[in-house]
Amino acid sequence: MTEPRNTLTDEEKHKARQQKIKANVDERVAKATEERGVLVVITGNGKGKSTSGFGTVLRAVGHGLKAGVVQFIKGSKWECGEMNILKQFPVEHHVMGTGFTWETQSKETDIAAAKVAWEKSKAMLSNPNIDMVLLDEMTYMVKYGYIDLDDIIETLNNRPKMQHVLITGRACHRRLLELADTVSEVQPIKHAFKAGVKAQKGLDW
Ligand code: ATP
Ligand code: MG
Repeated sequence: MTEPRNTLTDEEKHKARQQKIKANVDERVAKATEERGVLVVITGNGKGKSTSGFGTVLRAVGHGLKAGVVQFIKGSKWECGEMNILKQFPVEHHVMGTGFTWETQSKETDIAAAKVAWEKSKAMLSNPNIDMVLLDEMTYMVKYGYIDLDDIIETLNNRPKMQHVLITGRACHRRLLELADTVSEVQPIKHAFKAGVKAQKGLDW
């Protein structure tokens, strides 16, 4: 008499698979024991970089942590829903003074504004009381050569050990990608703007 080849029911197979996955995850969780500040870069051409950065700041603030935000692009005339909420909390905030980039009028003014924003960032990146720093759209300052990359890397390397930093923006410099602990690239599959939908309040700003 021949034995049936597979006596496991679907339920049992599912259970065995799940146990294997759980053992694998448990093992990796057990190995991750280090506690330190993490440098996160969120780059790519798709939508979701700044919202991810601001969402993470909100997450930190929700735990009672202290955060700092520097916005390297939005001029003061640009509203931003996230900041309207975050400024009600103890979040240090600096917005670069000009409407930088495609609307730019004067390169000199932009460079000066970028340098001021970077000095504000440096103050946050040397303050151990700030648990998380968001440098929104900072990648462009490197791309345009407005802030010295060596200075950025040195400052990031010397920041307080437990401080998390988030950098957002397209076309992130290779050296920053190398330095980062976590890098996500947001890929555009579609964007409503391309179909003629204008930027929508609450969704895009
Ligand atoms: P968000 O702030 O919505 O997370 P983002 O930070 O990923 O977007 P940016 O490159 O900073 O994207 O662009 C800022 C604005 O441009 C946002 O209003 C966003 O919705 C819009 N946008 C983002 N990606 C695209 C795209 N691929 N095509 C057209 N518009 C885009
Ligand atoms: Mg953005």
